[in-house]
Amino acid sequence: MDCLFCKIIDREIPGDIVYEDDEVLAFNDINPQAPTHILIIPKRHIATLNDLADGDQALMGRLTQTAATLAKERGFADDGYRVVMNCNEKGGQTVYHIHMHLMGGRGFTWPAG
Ligand code: AMP
Ligand code: ZN
Repeated sequence: MDCLFCKIIDREIPGDIVYEDDEVLAFNDINPQAPTHILIIPKRHIATLNDLADGDQALMGRLTQTAATLAKERGFADDGYRVVMNCNEKGGQTVYHIHMHLMGGRGFTWPAG
């Protein structure tokens, strides 16, 4: 599979991995937009949010739970943080393996651009 994030999962290319379990991998974003910017991904390849199927609900919950756990571990959970998933071109998606951006350590405004 010619997928950048599958290659990080398979250790074919390096990733700065901060969390791993049987279904989820988390690693630092190579171009951070905040003091903490972590990408949280399923180990199973899913290209976009539109490709989620029945049965993926628990997996998505695990991604979300991982984001909250990492935010607590890094000490900015109470201050607040941002979680983002981009879908397809107009959503700003550039890597077609779903990923949750966890950004913290600074303030954010809304609406985002
Ligand atoms: P998106 O635009 O939502 O698809 O986000 C893709 C993210 O992947 C961007 O924030 C990139 O900086 C990040 N990224 C691209 N290549 C790598 C890599 N090799 N390791 C870590 N993060 C990456
Ligand atoms: Zn993939």
